[in-house]
Amino acid sequence: MFRKALINILLNNPMSIKELALLLDEHPKDIEDGLQHLQQSLRNLPYQMLIEPACCNKCDFLFQSNKLHKPGRCPQCHGTWISEPLISIEEDEANESRA
Ligand SMILES: [Zn+2]
Repeated sequence: MFRKALINILLNNPMSIKELALLLDEHPKDIEDGLQHLQQSLRNLPYQMLIEPACCNKCDFLFQSNKLHKPGRCPQCHGTWISEPLISIEEDEANESRA
């Protein structure tokens, strides 16, 4: 399982699912599933997942930040030149101070 590797790779290092798939030699769908499971298990760890939302390069429309994969097209200008969401993990300081 590559979830542990995902934490190490993404710690303070935002990457898209596509980049992760290439790096880990896994199918993007498996990366997305892994990230979703990881997001759940991070609740018990002093880390949090940050998702930099996808954004339209044409009109700067910002997509919802809870989506991990790249949207097909922009609802505003219907363009398809869309940057991928970037996923990263950072240490959860709020969690730490609570402990
Ligand atoms: Zn747009």
